[in-house]
Amino acid sequence: MSQDCIFCKIVQGEIPATIVYQDELATAFRDINPQAPMHVLVVPNRHIDDITALSEADEPLAGHLLRVAAQVAAQEGLATPDRGFRVLVNYGDEGGLVVHHLHVHVLGGRKMGWPPG
Ligand code: AMP
Ligand code: ZN
Repeated sequence: MSQDCIFCKIVQGEIPATIVYQDELATAFRDINPQAPMHVLVVPNRHIDDITALSEADEPLAGHLLRVAAQVAAQEGLATPDRGFRVLVNYGDEGGLVVHHLHVHVLGGRKMGWPPG
């Protein structure tokens, strides 16, 4: 747990969030400012600053986050070819990173534009 990290606090249940999935490695909860009808964040329970801080030893965890992302989309009825969803990780000012606890965005429920804005 990193001091004053909002996502660590969500994982620990210290601040409220709508948790849609949790296991021993990861937690998924609804984004407070959704950018699509379905917008969930998947985070490692252990604090990792961001995608650049992943070590080789974290590879199974990184894969798990992706699998949980797909599971959450399936839970929401979006893991079908006609529906669909988008998974993304932001990094840096140009990438749009704001919260410094690694998180995978899962968005769906509307047609996604490409390229992203
Ligand atoms: P990023 O820009 O990739 O760092 O994304 C951070 C995301 O966290 C944004 O989409 C925010 O809306 C979301 N967020 C910030 N605080 C909370 C919170 N307390 N509960 C749920 N989502 C949050
Ligand atoms: Zn944290």
